[in-house]
Amino acid sequence: MVSWQRTLFKKYLAQTSGEPMMFEPVRAAGCWFYDADGKKYLDLISGISVSAAGHGHPGIKAAIRDQIDRYMHTMVYGEFVLSRQTELAEFIAGTLDDSLNNIYFVNSGSEAVEGAIKLAYKYTGRKGLVACKRAYHGSSTGALSLMDDPYYSSGYKPLLGGVDFMEFNKEADLKKITHETAAVFVEPVQGEAGYLPAEKSYLKALRNRCNETGCLLVLDEIQSGMGRTGKFWAHQHCDISPDILLTAKALGGGLPLGAFISSKKIMSVLSDNPILGHITTFGGNPVSCAASLACMELLSREGWIEKVPEKEALFRSELLKWGIEGVSGKGLMLGVPTGGFEHSKTLVQKCLQKGLITDWFLYETGKLRISPPLTIDVEEIRFACKVIGQSMEELNALK
Ligand code: PMP
Repeated sequence: MVSWQRTLFKKYLAQTSGEPMMFEPVRAAGCWFYDADGKKYLDLISGISVSAAGHGHPGIKAAIRDQIDRYMHTMVYGEFVLSRQTELAEFIAGTLDDSLNNIYFVNSGSEAVEGAIKLAYKYTGRKGLVACKRAYHGSSTGALSLMDDPYYSSGYKPLLGGVDFMEFNKEADLKKITHETAAVFVEPVQGEAGYLPAEKSYLKALRNRCNETGCLLVLDEIQSGMGRTGKFWAHQHCDISPDILLTAKALGGGLPLGAFISSKKIMSVLSDNPILGHITTFGGNPVSCAASLACMELLSREGWIEKVPEKEALFRSELLKWGIEGVSGKGLMLGVPTGGFEHSKTLVQKCLQKGLITDWFLYETGKLRISPPLTIDVEEIRFACKVIGQSMEELNALK
């Protein structure tokens, strides 16, 4: 029977594809969602790469309640002193190189990208941007300008001009970064291309090229940050540091929050000529910051990040037992090859029927996404791999 909620969904909510997945959760706890019949589903995507501490963590809920009892909203940007914001900024700065000591809180990843583009234009006085092919930096028009795939961007032109694209992980293409380039945007683990980590040597060469040309290096850690790859930030595997760091997703502890982070020197261009160089009504909302601070403290205290490499190894070895090879990615950011989009669609549906939520990627539609809460345990990992393995066997039997 079609639920009334589904009827309302089809009638009143904007749809983003012709075939919505129509999963209808009613509550969540830990790594699990529950539907109206009480059936449980393991959350292998954390919607997407957000719920690092799992769902409904009591520490995060208590921090939210405490802040709601104090105040929920006021003017949030750069004028009033809001204690959850200041403490969170101090915490985040403590996870980073000394040069990344100034934080602008926003609502989302896309808004962090917009802030970084503006910062780079104004600080360098240049107008060129460089991004990687098959990168995803967000859906707002500035962020969309950094997307090379015409399928997704051409219908929304005119977008920003002066953007050049280079192949990810290809050092020879770094020459596209010139003395005209204001900023280059790179994901340390390319997300929507199917979880592809940058080579250490590539990131080092990228950093050098930016130093040579005076271009700002912007690392988009919106998805790869907050411990997902086994270090607090993915770039910390590679001994380099960006000029601007972007974060969102898991940052908010389940509530909307993003940030662009830079040095005081670079960030100062937003407060002078004109003043109020970037304004946001809700970015850095005190309730989001309270949730974030609680989540960040859990991440640093609970040892979840340190356990990411062994959880990655368990995923790989359990999938191998089902003959599944060629898994891409790093840490709890893994891509499982399926053999093509039609297979991925069937597998996602089969997994859902068996109580596992997964998805494919925007560009790499021939892979399933593994990006669970960092709290996922051994039994849950085994269950996930068994469901994927069984679903693949069923699919192969149909061939
Ligand atoms: N950058 C990356 C690497 C992302 O994965 C995403 C979201 N998938 C974004 C930017 C955009 O973030 P948001 O959806 O919060 O605008």
